[in-house]
Amino acid sequence: MSEETARTDCSEALLRVYEFLDGELGPEDCAKIQAHLDECGPCLKQYDLDTTLKSLIKRSCGCETAPDALRMTIMSRISMTVISVEGQA
Ligand SMILES: [Zn+2]
Repeated sequence: MSEETARTDCSEALLRVYEFLDGELGPEDCAKIQAHLDECGPCLKQYDLDTTLKSLIKRSCGCETAPDALRMTIMSRISMTVISVEGQA
Protein backbone atom coordinates (compact mmCIF):
# COMPACT_ATOMS: atom_id res chain seq x y z
CA MET A 1 0.00 0.00 0.00
CA SER A 2 2.22 2.87 1.18
CA GLU A 3 5.67 3.19 -0.28
CA GLU A 4 7.52 2.58 2.95
CA THR A 5 5.82 -0.75 3.49
CA ALA A 6 6.41 -1.85 -0.09
CA ARG A 7 7.64 -5.39 0.30
CA THR A 8 8.74 -7.87 -2.24
CA ASP A 9 6.00 -10.42 -2.64
CA CYS A 10 6.64 -14.08 -3.28
CA SER A 11 5.83 -14.08 -6.97
CA GLU A 12 8.18 -11.18 -7.59
CA ALA A 13 10.89 -12.74 -5.46
CA LEU A 14 10.59 -16.05 -7.28
CA LEU A 15 10.60 -14.36 -10.65
CA ARG A 16 13.75 -12.50 -9.81
CA VAL A 17 15.59 -15.30 -8.08
CA TYR A 18 17.02 -16.31 -11.45
CA GLU A 19 18.30 -12.82 -12.14
CA PHE A 20 19.55 -12.68 -8.59
CA LEU A 21 21.48 -15.90 -9.10
CA ASP A 22 22.83 -14.66 -12.39
CA GLY A 23 24.03 -11.47 -10.77
CA GLU A 24 21.84 -9.43 -13.12
CA LEU A 25 20.14 -7.40 -10.40
CA GLY A 26 21.36 -4.05 -9.19
CA PRO A 27 22.39 -3.66 -5.56
CA GLU A 28 18.96 -2.38 -4.50
CA ASP A 29 17.05 -5.24 -6.09
CA CYS A 30 19.61 -7.69 -4.78
CA ALA A 31 19.02 -6.42 -1.27
CA LYS A 32 15.26 -6.70 -1.74
CA ILE A 33 15.43 -10.30 -2.85
CA GLN A 34 17.94 -11.15 -0.16
CA ALA A 35 15.71 -9.57 2.48
CA HIS A 36 12.72 -11.51 1.21
CA LEU A 37 14.63 -14.78 1.25
CA ASP A 38 15.71 -14.08 4.81
CA GLU A 39 12.14 -13.86 6.02
CA CYS A 40 10.30 -16.19 3.68
CA GLY A 41 10.90 -19.90 4.14
CA PRO A 42 9.16 -21.14 0.97
CA CYS A 43 11.08 -18.71 -1.23
CA LEU A 44 14.33 -19.61 0.45
CA LYS A 45 13.62 -23.26 -0.32
CA GLN A 46 13.00 -22.35 -3.92
CA TYR A 47 16.19 -20.34 -3.95
CA ASP A 48 18.10 -23.32 -2.62
CA LEU A 49 16.60 -25.48 -5.33
CA ASP A 50 17.56 -22.96 -7.98
CA THR A 51 21.08 -22.75 -6.63
CA THR A 52 21.35 -26.51 -6.78
CA LEU A 53 19.93 -26.56 -10.30
CA LYS A 54 22.34 -23.91 -11.43
CA SER A 55 25.35 -25.72 -10.13
CA LEU A 56 24.10 -28.94 -11.70
CA ILE A 57 23.61 -27.22 -15.03
CA LYS A 58 26.97 -25.55 -14.81
CA ARG A 59 28.59 -28.87 -14.07
CA SER A 60 26.78 -30.59 -16.90
CA CYS A 61 27.81 -27.84 -19.31
CA GLY A 62 31.42 -28.54 -18.41
CA CYS A 63 32.21 -31.97 -19.67
CA GLU A 64 29.81 -34.33 -17.94
CA THR A 65 26.20 -34.63 -18.96
CA ALA A 66 23.54 -34.83 -16.30
CA PRO A 67 22.07 -38.33 -16.20
CA ASP A 68 18.66 -38.58 -17.81
CA ALA A 69 16.96 -39.53 -14.57
CA LEU A 70 18.38 -36.49 -12.85
CA ARG A 71 17.33 -34.26 -15.70
CA MET A 72 13.81 -35.64 -15.53
CA THR A 73 13.67 -34.95 -11.81
CA ILE A 74 14.86 -31.41 -12.35
CA MET A 75 12.37 -30.75 -15.14
CA SER A 76 9.42 -32.09 -13.17
CA ARG A 77 10.43 -30.01 -10.16
CA ILE A 78 10.56 -26.93 -12.31
CA SER A 79 7.08 -27.50 -13.69
CA MET A 80 5.73 -28.25 -10.22
CA THR A 81 7.24 -25.00 -9.01
CA VAL A 82 5.73 -23.04 -11.86
CA ILE A 83 2.31 -24.50 -11.13
CA SER A 84 2.53 -23.73 -7.41
CA VAL A 85 3.68 -20.17 -8.08
CA GLU A 86 0.83 -19.60 -10.49
CA GLY A 87 -1.57 -21.12 -8.00
CA GLN A 88 -0.62 -18.51 -5.42
CA ALA A 89 -1.36 -15.58 -7.67
ZN1 LIG B 1 8.26 -15.45 -0.43
